[in-house]
Amino acid sequence: MFNSLLESLIEHTECVLGENGALSKVMEGFEFRNEQVFMAKAICHSLAYREHLICEAGTGIGKSLAYLVPIVFWTQFEKKRVLITTNTKTLQEQILKKDIPFLRDKCGLDFKAQLAVGSANYLCLRRFNAEITSTVTLFSADDFKDLQEIRRWVEYTKSGLFAELPFIPSGNLQSHISRERDLCPGRKCQHYKECFYFKARNSLKEANIVVANHHLFFANLSTDGNVLPEYDAVVFDEGHNIEEVAINYLGSQFSNTGLRWLLNTIYNSKTGKGIVAKSRLSNDEIGKIKSQIEECENCSDQFFQDILSKFGNTSFKQRITEKYFIENYLSAPLMKLGDILKGLKKQAGNEESEFEFNAFAEKCVVNAKNVNDFLEQGLEDWVYWIESEKRMRFTRITLNINPIIVADLLKKMVFDKTKPCIFTSATLAINRKYDYLKDSIGLNDAVEILLDSPFDYKNNVLFYTNSEAPDPNSNEYIDYCDDMVKKIIQKTEGKAFILSTSYKLINLLSERLGESFSGYKILKQGGAPRHKLLEDFRTDKHSVLLGADTFWEGVDVQGEALECVIITRLPFEVPDEPTVQAKTEYLEKIGKNAFTDYQLPRAVLMLKQGFGRLIRSKKDIGVVAILDPRIQTRRYGVIFLNSLPKCRNIDSVEKVDVMLKEIRERLLIK
Ligand code: SF4
Repeated sequence: MFNSLLESLIEHTECVLGENGALSKVMEGFEFRNEQVFMAKAICHSLAYREHLICEAGTGIGKSLAYLVPIVFWTQFEKKRVLITTNTKTLQEQILKKDIPFLRDKCGLDFKAQLAVGSANYLCLRRFNAEITSTVTLFSADDFKDLQEIRRWVEYTKSGLFAELPFIPSGNLQSHISRERDLCPGRKCQHYKECFYFKARNSLKEANIVVANHHLFFANLSTDGNVLPEYDAVVFDEGHNIEEVAINYLGSQFSNTGLRWLLNTIYNSKTGKGIVAKSRLSNDEIGKIKSQIEECENCSDQFFQDILSKFGNTSFKQRITEKYFIENYLSAPLMKLGDILKGLKKQAGNEESEFEFNAFAEKCVVNAKNVNDFLEQGLEDWVYWIESEKRMRFTRITLNINPIIVADLLKKMVFDKTKPCIFTSATLAINRKYDYLKDSIGLNDAVEILLDSPFDYKNNVLFYTNSEAPDPNSNEYIDYCDDMVKKIIQKTEGKAFILSTSYKLINLLSERLGESFSGYKILKQGGAPRHKLLEDFRTDKHSVLLGADTFWEGVDVQGEALECVIITRLPFEVPDEPTVQAKTEYLEKIGKNAFTDYQLPRAVLMLKQGFGRLIRSKKDIGVVAILDPRIQTRRYGVIFLNSLPKCRNIDSVEKVDVMLKEIRERLLIK
């Protein structure tokens, strides 16, 4: 039976992706890609035999079509549902707005696909109605005006998705009228039948393919499948991010700003607003809550002040390894506030208020528990750290707890339960092997394939490294970097990404470039929102963008706008970063080598991502310069080099302009 299913899947898939398949007739500029068909066949195999698959697919293979086509046929033949998760919205949009409509409309494939988004993206009719009918508002004048706009929008919106509003409501407004799990009674809600969120969730059950993000995947996992419909297979596209998303999702956070929001939402003494003010409690009862809130606020001030006194009122990240490093003033008053709210919920007025009182009482208990968990440090192989962010008017302080490893958990909860799980991305392998990925996520029984990009890196990409460059930790390095960056971007006339892991270096270089290149637009991460920087970079032909982290991946700039990627130093993470430090200690404890088994692979993956920004389409050309000599001088350098596509090596940047001109002429690029 399986053989015939496999044959049938392959046959149908070839009819679409094959040399003379449907795609060849309807896709403008179609080029047959052996690698795409190879990957698609591997997906057929994985689906038919229910075998996990890991597939690194280099840029340009067309990996989303390579998995979508077999999935469409499998879901039809076998009456199955497949979940596709991505890390970025960009890829999600490509799948939903480009690939899926193309397969349906141009290739005539018949299937239903739907996007699943987190419930906070939906307007909650119960909470919304409670706000607009309340005599006491929680909102500022601007938010109140927006609330009235939303009132008109609710009359005609079909989705109830905030993303469809013609304006962006403030975070405060959204947080009070969006669907929140703890504040949703589900079927017991009087608005259940018209509820936007549940209507969307129910309609997911009719879809053959559900597209979500990694975050929602873990939200579903942690609620025993309460968020997504059941599925029979998962594709983790941009799968290199899974470990990190899992770690963050399974961890917990507690912050002074979060606590302030909670207390203010219960009762804000300055504005006189809050759920308590909307209730029908007597003055005495309100007074009891108010004084407990005051107690919580005082204890919170003292608690966070103690942290700042210990570590300084500045921005910092500090790992905490000592139990009860400060006194826990907070848990008891928060627990007491929770008890008071629970005790008064029946008197609050109506079912609505009772429900809210209960939910906020629970939130107080969860917060009290989080503080205690943090101070108690009771979880072995978890990392505890404090992050402080000093802003203009206040300092945000967050207490974080994360697991150090998630491999066993993912194996048990994901890979042993759902087959197949398919991992794909352009960056999964280190030195052409998947050992790091498999160890970090606990996936040890997968079929493995690795497909190189069909793009002609060898002829179209110049690759510059210099073993004579000063060591990145030496005093001369910054001046060397400055000098090289200037030389290179002069040759490429801007059109460059400069990627670093150091904000300090980015700031310094951008300042110096600004002084030397008045004709070029110098854009810097943090100078404007990410999308605005990219828009400016794309429209200004001679711009230079300096990025410290978010520009290393998920950025797609095609064509002439980007012809140069300069990577200042190999992207090793800072070793005293709390999570890096904790993982390093853990690996050493179990007898592994933290450098080769963790720091090196992570740096290689990041370098691959950064490198991958340059060539996004067949006609892209350019130069990649790595200004860190260690890629040549250290033994591990070869692992970086073997993990990148083979390019045309150059040992000087003097003729970069002439060489790029030649490539352009050969490819008939104007
Ligand atoms: S069912 Fe839940 S999300 Fe829907 S309207 Fe009611 S409370 Fe809001």
